[in-house]
Amino acid sequence: MSAIEIPANLLPPPVRHTAMGPVARVGGGGRPPPRVSFEFGPPKTAEAEETLWQAIRRLEPLNPEFVSVTYGAGGSTRERTHRTVVRMLQETSLTPAAHLTCVEACCDDVDAVIRDYWEAGIRHIVALRGDPPGKIGGVYTPRADGYANATELTAGIRAIAPFEISVSAYPQLHPEHASLDQEVEVLKAKIDVGATRAITQFFFDIDSYLRFMDRVRGAGIEIPVCAGIMPVTNFAGLKRMAKPCGIPLPDWLCNLFEGLDADPDTRRLVAASVAIEMCARLEEEGFHDFHFYTLNRVEGADLVYAICRVLGVREATP
Ligand SMILES: Cc1cc2nc3c(=O)[nH]c(=O)nc-3n(C[C@H](O)[C@H](O)[C@H](O)COP(=O)(O)OP(=O)(O)OC[C@H]3O[C@@H](n4cnc5c(N)ncnc54)[C@H](O)[C@@H]3O)c2cc1C
Repeated sequence: MSAIEIPANLLPPPVRHTAMGPVARVGGGGRPPPRVSFEFGPPKTAEAEETLWQAIRRLEPLNPEFVSVTYGAGGSTRERTHRTVVRMLQETSLTPAAHLTCVEACCDDVDAVIRDYWEAGIRHIVALRGDPPGKIGGVYTPRADGYANATELTAGIRAIAPFEISVSAYPQLHPEHASLDQEVEVLKAKIDVGATRAITQFFFDIDSYLRFMDRVRGAGIEIPVCAGIMPVTNFAGLKRMAKPCGIPLPDWLCNLFEGLDADPDTRRLVAASVAIEMCARLEEEGFHDFHFYTLNRVEGADLVYAICRVLGVREATP
């Protein structure tokens, strides 16, 4: 019987394993575990808050570098984001980072949020412009009395207090950008006014991250650039999320999840193996900072927990 040929575009990209695979390397490979961080969203209801806190408690023992909480454009989650990061600070061992957007707000209001964070003991802000109201990719018109973009916001934060400031980066380009050069220029501008770390949009095409990082390092940018990793719990949802953000989903990924819409258990196994392979390949290329998008779900946190275990991240010993 002749072997069935699978077209190359339906196969995951080859992982260049070292003598030891990612699992074997753990505990015996001598390489320190990667640095991980986790992203959550502020809960909308009491029930969602309960779920979020289960997810946070699940991941807390992994001792991440930081955990971040998103912020609704236009300040729609101002109180909820604040409440969540402050509770993290007061009730957990975690280092919280508060996302902050400047779209649809005047500088005075944004500055007040920044000062509130500092007074509450928060020392890390993820500074973002945000998307215009309506839909992602819509035309953005800055307010005359507001910060026009994340560069201006970063400078504004820096002028108020010595926060750690993370900013976004887009290995596969922000929808408003036409080239990698432009992408790197904007990142550099944000760093020049005070950003200390970048976190990327999620991606599945490792080569585009590597190409992006070549340009970033070539431009003399040395700050950590955490690779945004999205473990796929719900592929249909991922497709809806990725499209407006201009994030291509490779054929091999679609092929892996095809026919699994009603099979969450297999989806989770596949999702874990994709994320582990991605991180293993990135580690082999010399990148060790991973930012996991948890989407607040307990299953998502279980998945991230398992992925981190395989990568060698262990519970902190007291
Ligand atoms: C890690 C991460 C976390 C996110 N968290 C949130 C969140 O919590 N809430 C939310 O609403 N959205 C969030 N987003 C989405 C983000 O708000 C959108 O992608 C938005 O469209 C762009 O925001 P930004 O900070 O990346 O933009 P910016 O980096 O400010 O870029 C936006 C536009 O401004 C231009 N620009 C920026 N700086 C300059 C400059 N110095 N000179 C000239 N032009 C400039 C850019 O070219 C671009 O056209 C997140 C994205 C990422 C990657």
